[in-house]
Amino acid sequence: MRAESADQSEGSGSADGSGRTENQNDLGTRETGPKQPRLDQYPSTSVGKQQRSFQKKWFDSFDWLEYSLSRNSSYCFSCKLFGKHNPRANKDALLSTEGFKNWKRALDSYREHEASAAHKSSLLAWKQYRTTLTEGDVVDQMNVGNVAQITERREYLRRIVAVTSLLGKQGIAFRGHEETDSSLNQGNFLEIMKLLETFDPFLQNYQAPSHSTYLSPGSQNGMIVLC
Ligand SMILES: [Zn+2]
Repeated sequence: MRAESADQSEGSGSADGSGRTENQNDLGTRETGPKQPRLDQYPSTSVGKQQRSFQKKWFDSFDWLEYSLSRNSSYCFSCKLFGKHNPRANKDALLSTEGFKNWKRALDSYREHEASAAHKSSLLAWKQYRTTLTEGDVVDQMNVGNVAQITERREYLRRIVAVTSLLGKQGIAFRGHEETDSSLNQGNFLEIMKLLETFDPFLQNYQAPSHSTYLSPGSQNGMIVLC
C-alpha cells in the first residue's frame, strides 16, 4: 500500500497541475494540526549515485514540519495554513505550497526556513489560533455549566413559588415563631418545604447556593407580592 502510493508519487511529484494545497488530503488541517507520519522507511529519490529520503527524526526537531506520503514531499504546516506573506526564497515557497523534497538539503533548508521572518509570523498566527480554540472550549464549558445551573435554579424556584402560592391562597401564615434549624416547628412555609423534600428527589439532591435559598423571610415577602 505504502510502496504503491510512493511509486505513484515518484512519477507525478507535486506537479499534478492543481497547485492547490487544499487537495493534499494527507496533510493536516487547522483542526487536526500537522500530519507527521512516522514510517520506518520513506520513498527514496536518487541524488547522483546516492539514495536520499525523508527522515522521521526531522519531526522531532521541527514541530511545524509535515510530510505527505502521496506526494513524497515535505511542507511547513504553519506557513501553508497561517502564512500571510508571499515567501521570497524558493524553499520557503515550496514548503508552503508545492512541497519541498530536496532531501539532501532538507535539514539545512528547514533550519533556514525556521529562522525566516515569514515563518515566524505564521507561527504567531498559528499560536493565536490555538489559543482562540482553547478559550472557545472553556467558554463553551462555562456556558454548559451555566445552563445546567439555571435549569436547576428554575426547578427549585418552581417549588418555592408553588408552596408560597398555596399558603397565600389558603390564607395560612407563612412564618413560625422560631425558624432556626433546631426548632421543632419552623413555621408553615419551611415545614411544607421539608415535607416536600421528603418525597421529592430533586429537593433531596439540590444544594441551593447559600446566598439564594429563597427561604428567608425577605425572600418570602418578595415572593408573596409576586404570587
Ligand atoms: Zn514556515
